Parts: sequence; structure tokens; C-alpha cells
Amino acid sequence: MKLKEHFKRIGIKWRIFAYFAVFTAIILILLWVFQVVFLNSFYKAIKTREIKTSAQTITKNIDSDGLSEMVQNISQSNQMCITVTDQSGMTYYKEDSLPNSVISRLSVFSLAQVYAVTKAQGGTYFEKLPRDFTTDSVQRRSLQPPHMESIIYAQIVVKKDGASQMVLLNSTISPIDSTVNTLRVQLVCITIVMLVLSLLLALFLSKKISTPIIKINAAAKMLGNGKYNVSFDETGYKEISELGRTLNYAAKELSKTEALRRDLIANISHDLRTPLTMIAGYSEVMRDLPGENTPENVQIIIDEATRLTTLVNDVLDISKLQSGTQPLSREDFNLTESIRTILQRYSKLTDYNISFHAGEDVMVNADELKISQVVYNLVNNAITYTGKDKIVEITQLVRDGRVKISVRDTGEGIPQDKINDIWDRYYKVDKEHKRAQIGTGLGLSIVKSILNMHGGAYGVQSQEGSGSVFWFELDIL
Ligand code: ADP
Repeated sequence: MKLKEHFKRIGIKWRIFAYFAVFTAIILILLWVFQVVFLNSFYKAIKTREIKTSAQTITKNIDSDGLSEMVQNISQSNQMCITVTDQSGMTYYKEDSLPNSVISRLSVFSLAQVYAVTKAQGGTYFEKLPRDFTTDSVQRRSLQPPHMESIIYAQIVVKKDGASQMVLLNSTISPIDSTVNTLRVQLVCITIVMLVLSLLLALFLSKKISTPIIKINAAAKMLGNGKYNVSFDETGYKEISELGRTLNYAAKELSKTEALRRDLIANISHDLRTPLTMIAGYSEVMRDLPGENTPENVQIIIDEATRLTTLVNDVLDISKLQSGTQPLSREDFNLTESIRTILQRYSKLTDYNISFHAGEDVMVNADELKISQVVYNLVNNAITYTGKDKIVEITQLVRDGRVKISVRDTGEGIPQDKINDIWDRYYKVDKEHKRAQIGTGLGLSIVKSILNMHGGAYGVQSQEGSGSVFWFELDIL
């Protein structure tokens, strides 16, 4: 466990080097095994196969006219001695491209004996003669002791005319000790060169990979310390530059949130202070001057207290919504009816012209309380921001299995460059103007969170000077 931990701490440079070294070692071991350890047996196996396939080629073409030429070609290209004889040892073809061939000097009698042995062994005969080979058997006695290991292969073939012939081949296995030694020295050199190269490559790669990471790490630490204006390096390999880009995006978003947070503190403290000052002021006046104890003044105190309550509720709502601690309690309800009920509460605002255009009632499956809050917030905003004609128009439209609720006002509208920001928390288009009268900048953010939770689409179309249309959609039942 400790070793594992320790390994994790090893820097990228040494890790890459270790991987390269292991990789090199595996390749070199493979090379070593194949070139040094097995080379001899590979070579022998190849030679053996070669002599057997040559014999097969000749026997297949034993009746062909070009046999002589073929025997010559095979003999020359493979450095073999090839003879074709019959049962009595008489030679039909002979091609000798092998110095000191053991079969080239065989007597007719010996060839006849080889034929007999081959026949006795079922038609083929294979013999490997060692380097220190001494003649003891009858046919071997007549052979010259060779300098190298020899292999002899014989195969009996029946010709078309019924006569049997024997193809006898001889090739040598030259000693490869010196080759193996050369390879060994070469491998040692290659090992050293590869190790140095892998170290250099590891250094180079790790520098290329780790330098941007180290920079990003340093910048991330600064970000952690609250310096939101840091910029992350976007160079290096694709993944690293992507990380840099993502972190730059995160830093930008964080700095936005930070700016909004600062705005909020400024706004909220102002928004809290104004009603509190009013409540305190009016209460004092009413306490000190009995004549001021009028229902209008009491109403002002009540209004200001209500505004405070709204503010605090909004802040609580948005934190609950965004922390995800408030799950949706979906149920089937009549959305049209629900909107009608909400609008009835505005009936006291007689100087506003609030209208609702709905076709048939629609049923939806949603959290009624939260959807009501969406409608409230949109209608409240429309009332707050509508123009002098005080028109607020709510429309219900059913299309493609969805219901679209639009809230239209005739106010100043929203500048195009701000239209995407209004859904952000604490965002207010006009920060100075109307601050005391208007809400916290949380209303639309609450709308956005609720509709996102429902998976409903929403948006706004606005034209500066002629008003805005806020809308949202829900699936109908
Ligand atoms: P607020 O409580 O300030 O109304 P919202 O989140 O509801 O906060 O709205 C954010 C901002 O979007 C508002 O400050 C206002 O500038 C702008 N806005 C919202 N609704 C309208 C509207 N119907 N017409 C014009 N501007 C609007």
C-alpha cells in the first residue's frame, strides 16, 4: 500500500522514463531470445523445411521436361547438392552447388543402399550429420567427413511410366556462432542507445506535458485564493489545452458569480434598509405624533413589511431551488384554472388592464405551487415594467401536445445585449433606477430554475421601446 502511494507521487518524468525503460526491456528481451537463444534452432528448422520443400517440388515435377533446369535452379539458389537416381544407384540428374557435399561422392552401390533405406522407411529419409561425424555404417564409410553439419533428405517418387526414382538432396548448416556473437555485441549497444534515447524522450515528453500542467496548477491555486482574473495556459497537448480552456471558462463564471454576489450584497442591503428605515421612521412618527396615527401610515408600514417578506422569501426560494433540496411534487392539475385564480388576485389593481386569452382548459402534470410561482413572477414583472397604457396580456396557446403561456407587456423592453443575462441570479438591467420599488433580481432566476426542473422550455422576445413577451411551455396531458 505504501509502495503504491509512493509510486503515485513519482513525477510524470520518471514515470514516462520507467514506462519507456520497461518497453525497451521487453523489446530487447524478445530480440535477445529470438536472435541469440533461438537463432540456431530457427535456422536449422528453416534449412530443414527448405530441403523438404525442394524435394517435394522436384518429385512433383519428376515427369516434366524442364526437370533438369529446375534441379539446376534449386541447387544453385539454395546451395544444395541434388541427385536423382534409381533403385540400382544409377544417376539421372546431378547438380552440385555445395562444396564438400557428402552425397556427391557416393558410389553407385552406396546410392543403391540409400535407396533401400529410404524405401524401408516408407519413401522418405532424413538425416542430420553432426560436425564431428565419423563414418561407421556402410554407406557412410564412403562419405568424406564434412566440415559443417549436413542435412540429407531423400524421397522416392514413382514416375508416370511406373519406374521409381529417388531424389536425394544435401545441404549444410553453416555454424552461426560468430553471427550470434556479433548480434550479442550489437544488442548490448542497442540496449545502451535505447536506454539513453528513452531517457531523453521521457525528459522531452514530460517537459512538454508537465510544463503546462504546472502552470495551470499555479493559476488554479491563485483562483482558489480568490483571484478570479487569472488566465489559464491554453497551450500544450489537446487534452491539456482543453483543461486550460475549461478552467478559463470556470474562472470567468466564478468571477461573474462573484460580481453578482457583490451586487447582491449592495442591492439587498439597500433593499432591506429602505423598508426598514420607512417602518422605523413611520412608527416613530406615529408614536410621537398621535395625529399621524392614520390608516394610510399603517398601510405604508404593512406594505414595507410585505416587501421585506417577499425579499426574504425570494432569497430562501432560490437557495432552496438551486441547492436541489426541494423536490418537485408533481400532480395533474388544471393550468388554465390555476392561472385564472392567480389573476383574480390582481383584480384590485383596477388601473391595470390585465387580460387572459385562453381557449379550452388544459391539464398538465407539474408542481402546481411552483408553476403558480412562475406565473406570479412573470405577471408581477409585466405589471412592474409595463408601459403607461398599463396593458398586461396573458395568452394560452395549445400546439403539438404542449401548452405555451405568454405574458406580454408594453413597457420599455430589454436591450438585446442584456437579454441573456436577465435569467441570472441577482441580475437587474437597470441597477440604479427604480431599485427601491423593484424586486431583488431573483424572480426570473426562480422562474428559470423551476422550468428547468420541469424540463419545460422558456424564453423571452423583447423589442426595446415596445415591450416584452415572456413565455414558457409545458407538456399537456
Ligand atoms: P426583479 O426582481 O428585479 O424584477 P427579475 O429576475 O424578475 O428581477 O428580473 C431581472 C431583470 O430583468 C429585471 O431587473 C429587469 O431589468 C428585467 N426584466 C424582467 N422582466 C421584465 C419585463 N417584463 N420588461 C422589462 N424588463 C424586465
